Amino acid sequence: MEQHSIYLDNNATTPMHEDVIQAVHEANLLYGNASSMHSFGRDAAAAIEGSRAAIASLIDCDPSSVIFTSGASESNNTVFNIFREQIDLGSKRNRIVTTTIEHPSINELVKYLRNHGYKVDECPVDKEGLIDLEVLKGYLADDVALVSVMTGNNEIGTIEPIAEITKMAHEVGAYMHTDATQAIGKIPVTMKTWGVDYLSLSGHKFYGPKGIGVLAIAPKVPLAPFVHGGHQEGGMRAGTYNTASIVGIGVAAEIAQKELEEESKKLWDLREKLRKGIEERIPNIVVNGSQEHCLPGTLDVSFPHAEGESILLYLDLEGIMVSTGSACASGSLEPSYVLLASGVDIEMAHGSIRFSFGRYNTEEDVDYVLEKLPPIIKRLREMSTR
Ligand code: PMP
Repeated sequence: MEQHSIYLDNNATTPMHEDVIQAVHEANLLYGNASSMHSFGRDAAAAIEGSRAAIASLIDCDPSSVIFTSGASESNNTVFNIFREQIDLGSKRNRIVTTTIEHPSINELVKYLRNHGYKVDECPVDKEGLIDLEVLKGYLADDVALVSVMTGNNEIGTIEPIAEITKMAHEVGAYMHTDATQAIGKIPVTMKTWGVDYLSLSGHKFYGPKGIGVLAIAPKVPLAPFVHGGHQEGGMRAGTYNTASIVGIGVAAEIAQKELEEESKKLWDLREKLRKGIEERIPNIVVNGSQEHCLPGTLDVSFPHAEGESILLYLDLEGIMVSTGSACASGSLEPSYVLLASGVDIEMAHGSIRFSFGRYNTEEDVDYVLEKLPPIIKRLREMSTR
């Protein structure tokens, strides 16, 4: 029997592009410390600066804005910590505004900050996961230091109006951060046009290496060193450069920029083929999130009277890899907080599956899912006691 491996969990992570693997391999041979003044050091430093320029070009900012981090979790935490320090130093702007559907690297930090007495408001979203700008307005005033809203949601794919939100944040004198981790390589991301002050991303979501990311910081905004030590990254984040991974994320950025349009169309077409196929074959389902403002490769579907984890495991037995809610929540049977925050009822949230496409998926993958999924749902619904 033919063995299938159909990976539809690209929002959790993507495989490295073959050019990235090659570049990382070669960059591992550049073993000089990029801070050393000799030629081996200069070779490594030049490779790093090339990567910085590629990232800057991808997200439309100055290369000097790009700081390499270990990933978006670190970048997100860092932005909040910069403002936490300002608040500790007595800033009159002592409130942070974010949303109810941010990634756990913000969502959990919000809980921590609140437990430690900081004022953080989470603006709710509508049933598509979209921020209503009128509602957001109610949260904004001259005591707000930072507004942080993700560009595209990792679970339901909803794309938020970042340029408009940035304008509103700036109107009350607050700074703006966006977590663009899921948007990179799927939709155009432009720091300058949107006007955002801080932007986070992670290499492994767009075919780069894991454990490497970026915090991009616009000129003349609040800053604080986040790892004290050597002079790397303008003294902001000390530590010997991870040359190979930095080179890898740079190559991934070049590919993402070059192939954005084509890639985005392909992901949307695959997503739509699957959505329509599911709607035709399986009764009583709900597609979550926004259809109009959605990341091209994300399809989140609720199958009432079937448990998400069971669907996932049965699909896995057929060689199809998907996720329930976010991968970060796996291991817990709690329903997705993103779905609950978008007003999805608890049973629908329990029966939800996220299919997320990537560059290596094909139409045949979708055909295979459409063959295997309907009998699985049928069987689980027959077994369901609810
Ligand atoms: N933000 C979003 C929207 C994400 O999807 C992720 C990864 N799931 C992160 C942040 C964190 O990225 P990393 O795990 O690479 O730090």
